[in-house]
Amino acid sequence: MRAGASFDFVIVGGGVAGLRAAIGLAPAGRVLVLTKAEPAESNTGYAQGGIAAAIGDDDSPALHEADTIRAGDGLCDPEAVRVCVTEGPRYVRELVEWGARFDCAADGRPSLGREAAHSVRRVLHAGDATGREIGRVLWERVSALGAVETIDHALAAEIVVEDGRAAGVRYFDRGGALQDVRVAATLLATGGAGQVFRDTTNPAVATGDGIALAFHAGARVADLEFVQFHPTALSKPGAPRFLISEALRGEGARLVNQSGEPFMTRYHPDGDLAPRDVVARSIVRESERTGGAVFLTLAHLDAAFVRGRFPTIAAMLKDLGLDLAVDRIPVGPAAHYMMGGVDTDVCGRTSIAGLYAAGEVACTGLHGANRLASNSLLEGLVFGARAAAAMQEPPRAAPMKEDRVMADGSWLMANSKSDPPSAMATIRELMWNCAGLFRDQNGLEHAVATLDSASEASYPRSADGARARNLPCGGQRAVADTTAATSRSATIYTGGFTSSTVRGNKDTEGYNKSFASLTPTPPTPATIDAE
Ligand SMILES: Cc1cc2nc3c(=O)[nH]c(=O)nc-3n(C[C@H](O)[C@H](O)[C@H](O)COP(=O)(O)OP(=O)(O)OC[C@H]3O[C@@H](n4cnc5c(N)ncnc54)[C@H](O)[C@@H]3O)c2cc1C
Repeated sequence: MRAGASFDFVIVGGGVAGLRAAIGLAPAGRVLVLTKAEPAESNTGYAQGGIAAAIGDDDSPALHEADTIRAGDGLCDPEAVRVCVTEGPRYVRELVEWGARFDCAADGRPSLGREAAHSVRRVLHAGDATGREIGRVLWERVSALGAVETIDHALAAEIVVEDGRAAGVRYFDRGGALQDVRVAATLLATGGAGQVFRDTTNPAVATGDGIALAFHAGARVADLEFVQFHPTALSKPGAPRFLISEALRGEGARLVNQSGEPFMTRYHPDGDLAPRDVVARSIVRESERTGGAVFLTLAHLDAAFVRGRFPTIAAMLKDLGLDLAVDRIPVGPAAHYMMGGVDTDVCGRTSIAGLYAAGEVACTGLHGANRLASNSLLEGLVFGARAAAAMQEPPRAAPMKEDRVMADGSWLMANSKSDPPSAMATIRELMWNCAGLFRDQNGLEHAVATLDSASEASYPRSADGARARNLPCGGQRAVADTTAATSRSATIYTGGFTSSTVRGNKDTEGYNKSFASLTPTPPTPATIDAE
């Protein structure tokens, strides 16, 4: 940052949401964008499958809305869904006008992919590196805007709150020095929290910082118990948990067990294209039943088509000695997407005036209990743009939604006596085992108690300290919300967090309903528990 530079707006995060917001804000004042690593290092840059938008002849926003709510298990916020699916096509067309090169059909129109739980082909894609293409276009546009300055390797460590209003951000610069930036409006666009779990598809930057920052500033957070585990991350010892996109199954890839038998129709009538949470648990159960690994196979499809349609995945696998078109690819679930986050209205306003959130860090209620595939890039575009518009208005806090109740104090906090986890790896292991795909009350209480101790860390004095603090906080909130949902109580909660919310009985009913529908049909002897 130039000495003496002053800004009107600060955006923490340079993924799809932060960049789209920067473009919207540029005509209104000077904008600072902070990213904590290299500019392109974000969940956005890794998005493979595509971006959903109701632009096909056989599609409509109403159909997209219905699919989103069905996937969200009825727990979506109807207004957030309507806004996203109705305004989405406009923002996607805008991207195309700005130069986004999506794959096209012979007639020159975008070719639309099919993904799980979408009732029609609706997903625009750029090969299997759609996020990289969207990021390229947005970064090019932002770089050309004189009003926007970006600083990379800048780690936001605190929201500055004065007189109950967000007044800016405190961050560590590349040299490790603390800097303050004072602005009229602050946007959190920090992305997801996959790194809170041992196994994740998310890059190293996705440690849930925005949730922790907002939470420590006193903002409401919500729905953190809803974590999406992608069913098909590569599961090869020693290899990274590289995502094998759902688009492969959309194009006909099959899940098979170690004997080569397709098994998904025994768990759900939609088979390989069942909702993600169903497929993820089914893979684990099938693996337990057979005692062996689960694989994706595309060997029955045309090899040239497979390699041409999924070049990035094919190249990654080739480096690991696997041929996508021929070999069976070992896969298993990994933490992928955080449905919950900083509680916002449909304009990105949080419960603190002057503080906004958009993208994966925010919880608009769009995804309910389970995100419909390829809705999150769309969410970043739509709500990034909407937050930018709201940030130009006089600041006001978002009211509490009607179906939410405050939760404060807890016997769990009182019973928090465990030693703090010594390192991030310990926390990830704990979250994976106690708050992952399968959860029960004892495990969750153990996790909450352990994480309570960990989060007692004092104010961070260094960038490493800030990273270490945010990880326990993001994990802790997820565990706490999960505990509340599974225990059928809005009041069982980790203590000391007077700013958090839960959605009382509605969460609990929906949560259990989504699991109850997971019982596989015979002849499979295994069952998926209704937790
Ligand atoms: C492997 C993978 C594949 C995916 N595929 C798809 C797909 O096909 N379709 C789809 O719709 N979605 C997909 N998703 C999800 C989607 O990519 C994300 O939800 C979306 O890109 C999030 O965008 P964002 O702008 O909210 O955050 P991100 O793109 O994650 O950006 C976060 C930014 O915040 C910055 N940041 C974080 N913390 C701090 C801090 N403390 N200080 C400063 N900066 C900070 C980071 O440096 C980064 O710039 C995928 C995700 C992954 C991981």
